[in-house]
Amino acid sequence: MQKAKICESVRVVVRCRPFSKKEEKIACENILEVDAKLGQITLRNPKSSPDDPMKVFTYDAVFDCSSTQREVYDDAVRPLVESVLNGFNGTVFAYGQTGTGKTHTMQGDPMDPDHRGVIPNSFQHVFTQISRTQNQKYLVRSSYLEIYQEEIRDLLRKDNSRKLELKESSDYGVYVKDLSSVVTKNALEIEHVMRLGDQSRSVGFTNMNERSSRSHAIFLITVECSETGPDGEDHIRVGRLNMVDLAGSERQSKTGAKGRRLKEAAKINLSLSALGNVISALVDRKSTHVPYRDSKLTRLLQDSLGGNAKTVMLATVGPSSKSYEETLATLRYASRAK
Ligand code: ADP
Ligand code: MG
Repeated sequence: MQKAKICESVRVVVRCRPFSKKEEKIACENILEVDAKLGQITLRNPKSSPDDPMKVFTYDAVFDCSSTQREVYDDAVRPLVESVLNGFNGTVFAYGQTGTGKTHTMQGDPMDPDHRGVIPNSFQHVFTQISRTQNQKYLVRSSYLEIYQEEIRDLLRKDNSRKLELKESSDYGVYVKDLSSVVTKNALEIEHVMRLGDQSRSVGFTNMNERSSRSHAIFLITVECSETGPDGEDHIRVGRLNMVDLAGSERQSKTGAKGRRLKEAAKINLSLSALGNVISALVDRKSTHVPYRDSKLTRLLQDSLGGNAKTVMLATVGPSSKSYEETLATLRYASRAK
């Protein structure tokens, strides 16, 4: 069946974070039940009435609040990075309300092997794999950018106030003009690149959290592998890995934002819904048109979504009754991508 085949290229997983200290203090109720075996999450409406029963959602995998960074990487992301090493493109998104664990899941604590997230785990994976090969030569380049208000900025440049443009060419597909890219030879070097970008992300903004909840951060790795074939010719294959910490999915326009803030909110909502539309078009085999052009984010990732590329949508949720509406919205968004 064709549908099953297409679905293989898009995997949707959901991770639930534990209660925070603050939530514990005010004794929030747990409204989530996670069944890892069945890949199911059951959500209970805290104001439940007989005509609003529990809602059950099924995904490719679910991770409960005791799941480790390594489990998430090994189960959800490792196969995708494997395919990037084999010359395919892949994209990992973290989607969810602010405070549910997107950055924890993507970055975690890069210095601690037990707590590092998807991005530093992928660095280790890529360079370990490369060190084990003998007859191939690898070139690993990385870039780090941010999309804020539909504007693209290079996080690896001193002057990151410059807005960069998206271009398209028949050779390279869609690319960001003048985006810097750094060649790195080992995991330490590429971790350093990530730290530089993170620092540049916070410069000039009083509140890092606020900024990161309103912008998408994309870490790009290009892995080029050249190998001399039996015919004596050099063969090159290139895989691209995009790791995206998305803006918070909370419906910002509902929070009473006005003026500039309201416009900003509209743009965030637009790019997240554009992404949802692209992914459901990819999953739906009846769909003939994939609306990549509706946002910078989807256009930039066009060559890494669909086709031979693999996509992992990692949705994050919290267990508390206080965030019922947002959790329901995230679970629905994620199941639409299924
Ligand atoms: P987001 O990036 O979605 O806004 P964060 O990753 O910053 O959310 O997470 C909010 C807080 O919750 C942080 O203090 C983080 O360490 C903690 N947290 C998130 N997910 C987990 C988890 N799975 N286990 C333990 N702590 C977590
Ligand atoms: Mg974050």
